Amino acid sequence: MKVVKFGGTSLATGAAVKQALNIITADPARQIVVVSAPGKRHDGDIKVTDLLIRYANETINGEDTAKTVQEIFERYETIGHFFDLPDEKIKIIKELLVDLPKKDYPNDEYLLAAFKAHGERLNARLIAMIMNHLGIKARFVDPTEAGIMVTGAPNDAIVNPETYRNLAGFKYEVYDRLVFPGFFGITPSGHIATFSRGGSDITGAILARGFHARLYENFTDVDAIFSANPNVVDNPEPIRTMTYREMRELSYAGFSVFHDEALIPAIQGQIPINVKNTHAPEKPGTMIVPEKGFKPENIITGVASGKHFSALYLHKYLLNKEAGFTLRILDILEKHNVPYEHMPSGIDDISIIFDKKFLNDQLIDVLCDEIQNKINPDRLEWIDDYSITMIVGEGMRDRVGAAAGILQPLADAHISLQMINQGASQISIMLGTKRADADKAVQVIYHQFFAN
Ligand code: ASP
Repeated sequence: MKVVKFGGTSLATGAAVKQALNIITADPARQIVVVSAPGKRHDGDIKVTDLLIRYANETINGEDTAKTVQEIFERYETIGHFFDLPDEKIKIIKELLVDLPKKDYPNDEYLLAAFKAHGERLNARLIAMIMNHLGIKARFVDPTEAGIMVTGAPNDAIVNPETYRNLAGFKYEVYDRLVFPGFFGITPSGHIATFSRGGSDITGAILARGFHARLYENFTDVDAIFSANPNVVDNPEPIRTMTYREMRELSYAGFSVFHDEALIPAIQGQIPINVKNTHAPEKPGTMIVPEKGFKPENIITGVASGKHFSALYLHKYLLNKEAGFTLRILDILEKHNVPYEHMPSGIDDISIIFDKKFLNDQLIDVLCDEIQNKINPDRLEWIDDYSITMIVGEGMRDRVGAAAGILQPLADAHISLQMINQGASQISIMLGTKRADADKAVQVIYHQFFAN
């Protein structure tokens, strides 16, 4: 059995849904179907999820919602009409939408989560109705029925292990196609909570693990995952096969085709993932597989840079002799609830690298102030424009000279490195550069390893 998940652009129009249905019915093993909310139909279009966020905010602010509700409903109605689904069937979508503000929510965060989740919840219902209308035996399964349980923040939930026990006990007829909405689960007190944005990938992975699928097919709008960002490198090579941890390290630096949190259930269940194009399903796409038995074809698999970092540089003589130095810094970070990403250090220096999403100007000032007062470094510098470039490849493991092959061409291109860190995993090298050099670094490394 396979789990097959379709992203928002793959379900944005009637024609796209038809293409998705062709893919589903082409293989009897594609029994578990996971859908996103209808995405953008063209540049400048609005995703249904974003319309639902607008609907939630209008509701919270007591504003008129009629126009937004109509706009959301029309997205589903148009898809239904494409398949001649009768209006009396489609009208349930409108009723469920209109009813959303009447439900009880513990607070506005839960309200927002529930509204957002209806992008996929209504789409899964609609698609199951369309399949039945076309004579395909299928049914909609709500996360409540299947027991997809989550905990944590209402709009950034994580799966609860109980889900896997529930799925193990979930009975369905083998010839059924089950259509699940992606993106959300149910909290212990029975409310809807969503994963982070793009989280339908996570639902697909949870179901693949829970149902012991032999493959998790993730249909999106690109032919494959590429070895570098196509906006940075012209026509980068597609990656045919990569390991889970290569994917994880590359998503960290900005590869965004597949949600990085979705790797975890797949890894736990050792389920291979195939990222494919809905509009070109005959193409092989990219396989993401377990490390065991993997034979790398190239030295590096991909190179990416993330520009969303900043760094704090500290210099203090004899830092290496001072017990508890790092601990005191970490105490300050913990007190302000700021996680750090990396902490490369030398004998008298240390850099602490942060993801900017956890910071703001005021917090930066407070942190620097406390660190200056409590740690008393000889030099403290905040580097706001920091990028991390990740060079990732199982082929680098135990390979002599991989680092030289990376560093020499960067030096030739006059790119100065603020940090070099060979990941503990031995399959990646991480470089810190100024933001302005990040794309150039990717191009130089790509050309060194692929174009040559
Ligand atoms: N519809 C949700 C979003 O736009 C989840 C997803 O598409 O995976 O973030």
